Amino acid sequence: MMSRTMAEAQLPKRVDAGKLVDSNQQFTAYIDSANLERLNDAVVRCDEPIHCQMVFERGTDRKRVLTGSFHTNVVMCCQRCLGDVTIPLQGEYKLGFVLNDEQAKALPRQLEPVELDEDGKLDLWSTIEDEVLLSLPNFPMHPESECQIMQPEPEPDYTDSDVNRVNPFDVLAKLKQK
Ligand SMILES: [Zn+2]
Repeated sequence: MMSRTMAEAQLPKRVDAGKLVDSNQQFTAYIDSANLERLNDAVVRCDEPIHCQMVFERGTDRKRVLTGSFHTNVVMCCQRCLGDVTIPLQGEYKLGFVLNDEQAKALPRQLEPVELDEDGKLDLWSTIEDEVLLSLPNFPMHPESECQIMQPEPEPDYTDSDVNRVNPFDVLAKLKQK
């Protein structure tokens, strides 16, 4: 079996999906995230490339299939403290190539349909970008211990007179600690 592996190379944007399936092509490559406009609009920053692994092959019933995974890190806005939070993203996908809606409906359920253009070409960047967008959390947040708004206040130094005047906020704070 001839299969070249392109290590540390940028993933090509448009590929001939049928050809890659016929040669059982496998890629380990990245996409420069600066090229992914929709992703950049959805996050605060994406400084890292999207690292991708993918295999083009014939699946069951000789369906043309792309199986793969990706991982990267993006910076999003923490929904608790509104600070920047780095979110690791990763995902796996199994796509079936189709030319129209009819074929999409006929695909087995475990395959996600992806439509090729009239030349049989696949836009790999936008396909992967879709997968990355789907993996974004709806409510990105720091772990509680790292979230700025949850940092515990330093213990105040009580004097006798302070102790006698009960501050309702202190009572609340103590309740929360339980
Ligand atoms: Zn936070």
